[in-house]
Amino acid sequence: MPTKAFGWGVESASDTVHPIHFERRDLRPNDVAIKISHCGICHSDLHFAHDDWGMSHYPMIPGHEIVGVVTDVGPDVRSYAKGDRVAVGCLVDSCQKCEYCKGGQETFCVEGSTFTYGVPDRHGELTQGGYSDHIVVREEFVCKVPDSLDMAQAAPLMCAGITTYSPLKRWGVKDGDKVAVAGLGGLGHMAVKIAAAMGADVTVLTTSPEKADAALKVGASDVLVSTDEEAMQAAARRFDLIIDTIPVAHEVDPYATLLRPNGTMVIVGALEQLPSFSGFNLIFGNRAIAGSAIGGLPETQEMLDFCAEHGIVPEIEVIKGDEIGEAWETLGKGDIPHRFVIDVEGSAKE
Ligand code: NAP
Ligand code: ZN
Ligand code: ZN
Repeated sequence: MPTKAFGWGVESASDTVHPIHFERRDLRPNDVAIKISHCGICHSDLHFAHDDWGMSHYPMIPGHEIVGVVTDVGPDVRSYAKGDRVAVGCLVDSCQKCEYCKGGQETFCVEGSTFTYGVPDRHGELTQGGYSDHIVVREEFVCKVPDSLDMAQAAPLMCAGITTYSPLKRWGVKDGDKVAVAGLGGLGHMAVKIAAAMGADVTVLTTSPEKADAALKVGASDVLVSTDEEAMQAAARRFDLIIDTIPVAHEVDPYATLLRPNGTMVIVGALEQLPSFSGFNLIFGNRAIAGSAIGGLPETQEMLDFCAEHGIVPEIEVIKGDEIGEAWETLGKGDIPHRFVIDVEGSAKE
């Protein structure tokens, strides 16, 4: 029998977020049922709710930074048991057979990976995310929350953490590397913390001079205001790697120019059309412009363990379910240098 579920979501691209009653599927043999304690709010939740990427389905319960406790498992589940502290990120299913799934890159599954919310799953049902009291997920897409991590603080690691850890790792960030992070928000502040833990000297590129203190507090050694053309020109050829978390289309050249020869700028924020950029800037510098999508399941567990080992946790502001609408407005303005996390367990369910 499907179970009754409660969440907060939207019923169309122009709707405001509100309480929604819905149902979760019955447990399949390889499913884990999770009572959700906290869920982070990612900027992607706004993009998805507003159908910015033209792939959203409604009604939609957003949320892909999910933590909670296992309440039940199907008979074939091997790795989890009742009472385990677990987490779910941006993906809930994939074929598990193709080269990408086998290689731990489920995001790029040849049959298509299933996002945690807002899309039809492999069985034709709409997926619903973590702004809700519980979720049912096949065990391959569940991670273990290390004991030393606080549940509320672990939540944002499941998207902001992995989306920044993955490119920092892939581009081999090491002691003394010069890394810049564009945009000090949920992803950006995690990129600073993780890059610093990998030994990099980190600079924040921000449109908000008032975030300078917050940037230094999370581990940056320098702050560059990206609208200050003189300061940007003076920083030419300074960085080995730029992690660009800006959530909207923006000029690429002013950032690419900051790369040292052989440097790479990794775009993780803007999924839309970007303005054209100069081939000259790339060629005369062996520079690269790259992209990076979240991270696979093995790497997500590795990131959680890395954060536990290095004591890396996001800066969070915990809110209740009835404050999500307000949080979305603040996030939409790019005003906060940290992450909102919904205290799902402690919120009124009505
Ligand atoms: P966020 O908390 O809103 O942070 C984005 C930051 O970008 C803002 O704090 C702001 O920082 C800067 N910014 C905002 N508007 C800007 C503008 N018009 N021009 C220049 N800078 C601007 O968002 P987030 O949760 O970190 O997510 C960032 C983006 O990553 C979103 O688009 C999200 O959808 C995407 N995302 C991608 C993946 C992936 O797999 N690649 C995964 C998760 C999220 P300053 O004030 O410092 O300038
Ligand atoms: Zn996200
Ligand atoms: Zn696959």
